[in-house]
Amino acid sequence: MNSANDLTILISDKNLDPQLKTIALKVQASERISFDEGVALYEKGELAYLGVLANFIREQRHGNKTYFNRNFHIEPTNLCVYDCKFCSYSRLIKQRSEGWELTMEEMLNIVRKYDDQPVTEVHIVGGVLPQYDMAFYTELFRKIHEHRPELHVKALTPVEYHYIFKKAKVDYATGMRLMKEAGLESMPGGGAEIFHPEIREQIAKDKCTGEQWLQIHEEWHRLGQRSNATILYGHIEQFWHRVDHMEQLRQLQDKTGGFQTFIPLKFRNQDNQMSHIKEVSVIEDLRNYAISRIYLDNFDHIKAYWAMISRSTAQLALNFGVDDIDGTLDDTTKIYSMAGAEEQNPAMSTAELVELIKQVGRHPVERDTLYNVVTDYSNYQPEEKPGARFYKLPVLN
Ligand code: SF4
Repeated sequence: MNSANDLTILISDKNLDPQLKTIALKVQASERISFDEGVALYEKGELAYLGVLANFIREQRHGNKTYFNRNFHIEPTNLCVYDCKFCSYSRLIKQRSEGWELTMEEMLNIVRKYDDQPVTEVHIVGGVLPQYDMAFYTELFRKIHEHRPELHVKALTPVEYHYIFKKAKVDYATGMRLMKEAGLESMPGGGAEIFHPEIREQIAKDKCTGEQWLQIHEEWHRLGQRSNATILYGHIEQFWHRVDHMEQLRQLQDKTGGFQTFIPLKFRNQDNQMSHIKEVSVIEDLRNYAISRIYLDNFDHIKAYWAMISRSTAQLALNFGVDDIDGTLDDTTKIYSMAGAEEQNPAMSTAELVELIKQVGRHPVERDTLYNVVTDYSNYQPEEKPGARFYKLPVLN
């Protein structure tokens, strides 16, 4: 594999910083790097160096395969009892007139709209409001299953579950069991932000703590179920806060093995209370994907949301550790566009996404939520004429 050669050449570079050389040797030997080494990658690792390491790991695990799934989103409401400083999406209850609150029937109508579409997953996430309680969501999950039994229900984060279970006066273990019985099949990775209280209390102080977020995932994994994890990076946190966040995820994953995918989410500064903070560069986005791939040695997948970072950055990210691009979204989510993402109408057809992946020499594979292969598009020939071509980055000079 080219990525193995790239790594060997990099290690033989006499000018390489000794600590970075030690890390590269560890990656070559599939050994875990330490917390301090994670921080060193952020402080000293240049983009080209990080790309070689991350691409080596990515190709060792997945070769050229690049996964995507066909899903649609339901966002029950953009009103929220919380007031996270980075959130461009939610409106406080006092601004009710600016928001939406879907009824159960309206949500089921969204599900029905996809009856003749080959989607495999519904992704449900939104603001936190009292009426969306235990009774509401358990009924919703049951009704979705009654209507379309094979549709995978991936729904709500520990932010919602913590609130719902507290109101229902049930502990996390009981609450997650009741959700599973109602038809919840997996949990998305949102609400993680930055776990460390020093940062979390400044940006998201009232919602569940980092510890509670991890406890809820742990209970879910104990039921034999899978979930994802995220980080919100590029605002007031320092590099070591990012490493601390990943360290806590790595430890829980050692314990349960229940995480599938890590999804770095870039802080966007449009229309929120942190608009004065400059967004980080695309270089930093790619460095962050790469370091995530290197640090989280027990996570199978690193995912990029193309709607959040743009199509071209998503293509680049496939050389920096990312093996999964989310997804064929239609236009059912407003989370990214309201935060200032380049994609104001995040809709991409399967053919477009397949072409996007093939343009950079990777093999598109449609997966279901649990990474079972639905369709391998390696030999797919698009009917439409392809657009501009992108080539593999020469990450090593
Ligand atoms: S990030 Fe989530 S919990 Fe925080 S205000 Fe926005 S919708 Fe509410």
